[in-house]
Amino acid sequence: MQPHEVTVHLGLGSNLGDRAQHIQQALRHLARVPGVILVRASSLVETPLQGEGPAQGSFLNAVAELRTTLPAAALLGICKALEAAAGRQLPAPRNHPRPLDLDLLFYGDEQIDSKDLVVPHPRWHERDFVTGPLRELGIDVAARPRRAGPRVVTSAGEFAALTSQWSPGGCVVGLVPTMGALHRGHQSLMEIARGECDRVAVTIFVNPLQFGPKEDFAAYPRTLDADLRVGAAAGVDAVFAPDVAQMYDPDFCSHVAVGAAAEGMEGALRPTHFAGVATVVARLFAIARPHRAYFGEKDAQQLAVIRRMTRDLGFPIRVVGCPIVREADGLAMSSRNIYLGAADRAASTVLYRALSSAQLSFRRGDTDRDALVARVRAVLASEPRATVDYVELRREGDLAALPPGPVAGGRLLVAARFVDGPRPVRLLDNLSLLAGPEGS
Ligand code: AMP
Repeated sequence: MQPHEVTVHLGLGSNLGDRAQHIQQALRHLARVPGVILVRASSLVETPLQGEGPAQGSFLNAVAELRTTLPAAALLGICKALEAAAGRQLPAPRNHPRPLDLDLLFYGDEQIDSKDLVVPHPRWHERDFVTGPLRELGIDVAARPRRAGPRVVTSAGEFAALTSQWSPGGCVVGLVPTMGALHRGHQSLMEIARGECDRVAVTIFVNPLQFGPKEDFAAYPRTLDADLRVGAAAGVDAVFAPDVAQMYDPDFCSHVAVGAAAEGMEGALRPTHFAGVATVVARLFAIARPHRAYFGEKDAQQLAVIRRMTRDLGFPIRVVGCPIVREADGLAMSSRNIYLGAADRAASTVLYRALSSAQLSFRRGDTDRDALVARVRAVLASEPRATVDYVELRREGDLAALPPGPVAGGRLLVAARFVDGPRPVRLLDNLSLLAGPEGS
């Protein structure tokens, strides 16, 4: 039987050394590999680095079309060997300059999702330096397969099996825990994770343990279909959306109680909340065993609690705090914002105005802790629709209390209630005194 021959498109890039030479050399080597026919290659295009990374020279890129009887894994092995022969150090730090980068864009029409290889390449269609050369080769880019959306799993066992397939072989796994009703704030966490990890999983679970008996567990928005579209757009690899029984056995009775970090502010108003958060996050960490986990600074006390829990229990996981994403008028995005009535929505900008006003006072030299808190309260008092729960100025990072008197920095945190919409809504916000203008 004739071995099956497959058309492959390969992306080539270089931004270190003699860039054109590295690419041409790789093409010459490929053409000599038994079982590989080099059909044609595009011209070289010059592109600056896309995405984050240290300052570095621009790339030369090209796309080659091959026909091959080699299995995808064997072709990948040859690509890795060519990268190494060009002087690329493996494992390569992300987004660092490299003499040669070879990406398997398409392997026939196959969809491959192994620990070493994802085909079609997850982000090929976002990259001009790929789509341009493909068009030059006469490829109908719109008709080419994009990677199917994220794998959706509902069973804890299946999720654990999936993530444990990723880790061996050096894949960096990122976890983004959420309660769903995803918005641009959540999306930014996924995008940050996408930029730093080889595989990203989002979890969507409205966790009953973190809601008090009189809180809105039943009414919390649940929008799984829309959430899956957000996950797909952010290019995540998997969505874990368990029901309560998957997360907690009927006789589940262990809880993670975090001490000082969970006291005061949200902890004072919601006495069981942070034990519920720490417990579910510990459970998710145990199931997924990620290398990195992404949380928003929006919930700054939650972030401090999770950092502390991760450290105290010794999870080998890097907890990454991500900046707050705001609406254009300054309101911090939150799944609960949809429950604000129109007048309360307009009034809700007072939180950010109050925080920004105190930040401005600090920049102008007013460094007294209580005066800065009073500044926030004064602005909040100008809005009768807001009922203030607390205003605090805490130490950056662990949010420990600061002594009275002058401060060199810190984070202002506020919570206020708005009651005129379809449901009462509590809004949280915070701002670092030392933060630059947001969104700049
Ligand atoms: P939630 O679904 O509300 O539990 O939030 C899931 C994660 O998204 C948490 O780490 C939040 O801090 C984060 N998050 C929520 N809103 C925002 C926002 N506006 N900007 C950045 N992160 C956010």
